[in-house]
Amino acid sequence: MPNTPFTSKRAPAFADVPDEQWNNWRWQLSNRINTVEEFEKVLPLTESERRALSAANLFRVDITPYFISLIDPNDPDDPVRKQVVPTDAELVPFTAMMEDSLAEDRHSPVPGLVHRYPDRVLMLVTTQRASSCRYCTRSRIVGDPSATFSRAEFEMQLDYLQRTPQVRDVLLSGGDPLVLAPKILEEILRRLREIPHIEIVRIGSRVPVFLPMRVTDELCDMLQKYHPLWLNIHVNHPNEISLELAAAADKLTRAGIPLGNQAVLLARVNDNVHIQRELVQQLVRIRVRPYYLYQCDLVEGAGHMRTPVGKGIEIMEGLRGHTSGYAVHQYIIDAPGGGGKIPVSPTYLLSYSDHKVVLRNYEGYITTYEEPTDYLPSEAAKYKGLKRPEPGQAGVHGLLQGEQMFIKPEGFDEIHDRSGIQHRLKDDKKWVPLGIGSGEEPETTPKR
Ligand SMILES: *Cc1c(COP(=O)(O)O)cnc(C)c1O
Repeated sequence: MPNTPFTSKRAPAFADVPDEQWNNWRWQLSNRINTVEEFEKVLPLTESERRALSAANLFRVDITPYFISLIDPNDPDDPVRKQVVPTDAELVPFTAMMEDSLAEDRHSPVPGLVHRYPDRVLMLVTTQRASSCRYCTRSRIVGDPSATFSRAEFEMQLDYLQRTPQVRDVLLSGGDPLVLAPKILEEILRRLREIPHIEIVRIGSRVPVFLPMRVTDELCDMLQKYHPLWLNIHVNHPNEISLELAAAADKLTRAGIPLGNQAVLLARVNDNVHIQRELVQQLVRIRVRPYYLYQCDLVEGAGHMRTPVGKGIEIMEGLRGHTSGYAVHQYIIDAPGGGGKIPVSPTYLLSYSDHKVVLRNYEGYITTYEEPTDYLPSEAAKYKGLKRPEPGQAGVHGLLQGEQMFIKPEGFDEIHDRSGIQHRLKDDKKWVPLGIGSGEEPETTPKR
């Protein structure tokens, strides 16, 4: 079967727009759809959509003429429509709903900079974006013109980065960095490149998806001056992969920018293994490597778009082994409360002993792998390539590598201090020989 060609779409309402305007990103931005009247010219609204668009506290709506044209106007359940056109289900609160579900504000040493992980930061450079996703994690700030970041804040962000040498990776997001005025975006990249310990810069952007005409030759020429630069786009459904997106991805790739995709698992949009397989395979066709599939955050307005976690695991089960490894993204739950990204996956390791592991493959074939009996690990201290101090040995990795023996929940010692028996294990780090140091004989049998 030959590859189906990618296609271009334009809603009949825009048929008379000259190509020159249609292909101009500034025209697309200034003609975004956000009122009931504008919507009705392009697609007939449902009652629920009309009620939402008239609600007072609705998270801002903006859709580029290009992106709204990808919607089938006669299908109220269209998967592109569900991502950008609000319904009144958004106004319904749900258990565990939060405004800032990832606790980003708490992790910000200076405004707009989220330092959650040891060696990398998330830098929010604008609150503006080409269109709004209804399930936006940052709906608390995005699209609000009064919440934009100032020059003073930008200088504070740079100052923090200059004095924090463990940061080697800066992820620009927002809002959407690619809607910034080209001069400002270039200034951000140039100033970051002046900091010697920053090795890579990444951009998270949905502009190639919402506004592919923004990916001009001039933009690519500018971006490639600041390598190594990586870019993650955000496509959720194969219907978003148009001729225009394919062309934008091609330009960025030719400029030497590796492209990844971050999708969000959304109810009745892409919560199906057949849709997901089509999505990731079509992404690889346009040379975009699927990176993460996120479980939908516990954010206000997104309750009706959530799926059970089991749906995500079921999808991953249907991808790994069933299609190219390059096409398989990693399923991630971004832990509520700021715990960070946690990968979740079906289990392939069934059991193990000191000489054998038992594994199953994607087909249900069960096999064993014989462990080596003469294994000698490399000695980390002999590795001469280390240029910077290693990040702290945290968590389970710390248990495996460090001197730490266990991780205790808060209050553990107090709860378990029954002050009777002399325990053999005195503190977190050291074994204390029996009876030494306390002047007391240890108990050999428990008190009754
Ligand atoms: C997602 C994220 C990153 C980047 O995480 P990777 O797993 O390296 O892609 C960095 N900082 C914050 C705060 C994030 O949310």
